[in-house]
Amino acid sequence: MVELKERVGFIGTGIMGAPMALRLKEAGYAVTAYNRTESKLVALVEQGVEVTVDLATAVRHQEVLVLMLADDAALTALVESRGGVLAHVQPGTVVINMSTIAPLSSRRLASAFAAKEVSYLDAPVSGSAGAAKSGQLVALVGGDKAVFERVRPLLSAMTKEQFYFGEAGSGNDAKLVINLQLALTMQAIAESLVLAESLGLQRGQVLDMMQSSSLSSAFFGIKRSLLETEDFTPAFALKHMRKDLSLVLDAARPNGAVLPNALTSFGTYTAAVQNGLGEEDLSAVVVELLRQSGYTGENRRRDDAEGE
Ligand code: NAP
Repeated sequence: MVELKERVGFIGTGIMGAPMALRLKEAGYAVTAYNRTESKLVALVEQGVEVTVDLATAVRHQEVLVLMLADDAALTALVESRGGVLAHVQPGTVVINMSTIAPLSSRRLASAFAAKEVSYLDAPVSGSAGAAKSGQLVALVGGDKAVFERVRPLLSAMTKEQFYFGEAGSGNDAKLVINLQLALTMQAIAESLVLAESLGLQRGQVLDMMQSSSLSSAFFGIKRSLLETEDFTPAFALKHMRKDLSLVLDAARPNGAVLPNALTSFGTYTAAVQNGLGEEDLSAVVVELLRQSGYTGENRRRDDAEGE
């Protein structure tokens, strides 16, 4: 007998959402994908995913709704505004919010959906675009445990592992923890590269050394080629890392957590966004630090010429 899988509305087909929606479709779910910007649906159509630019169509008559949106503002615009998801969602639906947003916003959304008799899980993910394509993401889940167990097969179609943390919002709490480590790791690599540049060492050789050292990691392996070629096509947009650091600081403040490096790093990522690097990959933070150090394109060329 063919197993019947849930009807899924997938809201937000950006860098992460598009491959995740495709994986659900390939796993046999009846997916209807929605995105605000229509052009980001084209590739999914070519891959046989049903799409719509009508939010109500994506939301009504679904058993599960997956949200993969940029930030709190996107959630407010698409979920809580007039004619948003809350206006169309039907009782009994399970909403899985996989966006990285403020834990407090997640808790507010859980209450708003509960008032509509809709179950809500927050399940942001660790891992980037490559992991989204290959199903190697890790889901960090908060919400009702029984609901989590019910939709776990669906989460498994997109993620290799699922960590259950507790009540709604705790998945987003956990996501801030891992992304603080990510932001600081990226900044540490970038600062080491700036020091190397200032000492006249060759970038490629320094990257080889980093890769061979015990400090190397899967993350370093993914970012190495971007740092070498300086092609910062985004897997994880720098503006989202800045957003996450802002969420980290907001979450830490009331609880008295002292995070000096988070504060400094937030300043660096903010400057990078202000200097036009927001749409680049987060590894472009090295460009901002080189700029602050006076190693602009012109200076670097002059250094190269002197070396010849
Ligand atoms: P993205 O490519 O920037 O996509 C963002 C999505 O949100 C798009 O569908 C976008 O629609 C939508 N959106 C943004 N503002 C909106 C608004 N005001 N109204 C309606 N829709 C709006 O981001 P992503 O990389 O896929 O990331 C999605 C989420 O996952 C973020 O919370 C991010 O922090 C998190 N995340 C990302 C990664 C990664 O490596 N990329 C990894 C883990 C977690 P449009 O296409 O119309 O702009």
